[in-house]
Amino acid sequence: MRNEKYQRKKRKSKAHEGLASSILGGDDLALSKAITLVESKKEVDNSMADEILNSCLSATGQSLRIGITGVPGVGKSTFIEQFGLYLIKEHQKKVAVLAIDPSSKRSKGSILGDKTRMEALSKHPKAFIRPSPSSGTLGGVASATRESMLLCEAAGYEVILVETVGVGQSETEVKEMTDFFLLLMLAGAGDELQGIKRGIMEMADGIMINKAEGNKLPLAKKAKRAYQNALHLFPPNENAWTTQVELCSALKGENLDLVWKMMHHYVQLTKENGFFEKQRKSQLLSWFEQDLTKKMNQKLYQNKTAKEKIIAIKEQISRQSLSPKEGAKMVFDVFLKNN
Ligand code: GDP
Repeated sequence: MRNEKYQRKKRKSKAHEGLASSILGGDDLALSKAITLVESKKEVDNSMADEILNSCLSATGQSLRIGITGVPGVGKSTFIEQFGLYLIKEHQKKVAVLAIDPSSKRSKGSILGDKTRMEALSKHPKAFIRPSPSSGTLGGVASATRESMLLCEAAGYEVILVETVGVGQSETEVKEMTDFFLLLMLAGAGDELQGIKRGIMEMADGIMINKAEGNKLPLAKKAKRAYQNALHLFPPNENAWTTQVELCSALKGENLDLVWKMMHHYVQLTKENGFFEKQRKSQLLSWFEQDLTKKMNQKLYQNKTAKEKIIAIKEQISRQSLSPKEGAKMVFDVFLKNN
């Protein structure tokens, strides 16, 4: 029996070593398989993914991680496809595209769900496109995307584009896993800043006003000035970088070089002043803390006595016969005693 267990374990570890070395050799199929393990709802798959990730870890961290956001319809898919192709053709980069969409409700408007919309990029041998993980992922969508990003790096991808839908908290999650955060905007009618959450603008390292072509160009130029003025009112960035605003047409593939130049300058400046490394380090620590909290929560809810206590205490709190603070303390004490 023990021998059987040992053999099974050995076979598994062989399989993970095989996948890890294929990923390190740049095998996209192995990369896809490993990401499927990362996204799996089964703990056994997740732990195999952990082992693969550990074997690949020393080959990670070398890419430029770019977060891209903007409201639906702004042109994210079009932009990502054109920009990805530009990076491959003009700068000989290998490009991976990942997405965060916690709601996973996108059907129409989803480039990543709908392959035909990124057809040219998805067919390119130097590109790797992975749709958003489903919200059913055990460790959470953001965590799965983070790990997939590291696996892509291990497979030799040099630029990782992480797309977010542009609504809700996914921006913060993408900001927390990338080096450069790009906001796509439209030159709208009327008030330029209408509907734009200040918080998202503050997060952006670069703003591209898309669809700036033809008769929309004058409006786009006006919008650029309005955004620049608005940005001046924000407090200075810790990284000494001033958020840049440029115009582009994703559809026509125009001004994509300006985006790349912007990113290049940002990287140059933040590598020189130490912010780049500092941000990466603080991201690592925050990933660690998030994972630790998640693990502790899992342990807590796996503990039968603590779980029952939580249900009982929730009752008391709702009846206002116990303070939330005291309730939390009581649950924690029960957990410590029974663990
Ligand atoms: P997403 O929802 O942000 O991913 O936006 P899509 O990339 O799907 O684009 C929405 C629509 O805008 C599509 O019909 C695109 O063809 C169109 N579009 C995207 N970029 C441009 C652009 O630069 N100029 C024009 N005129 N249309 C664009």
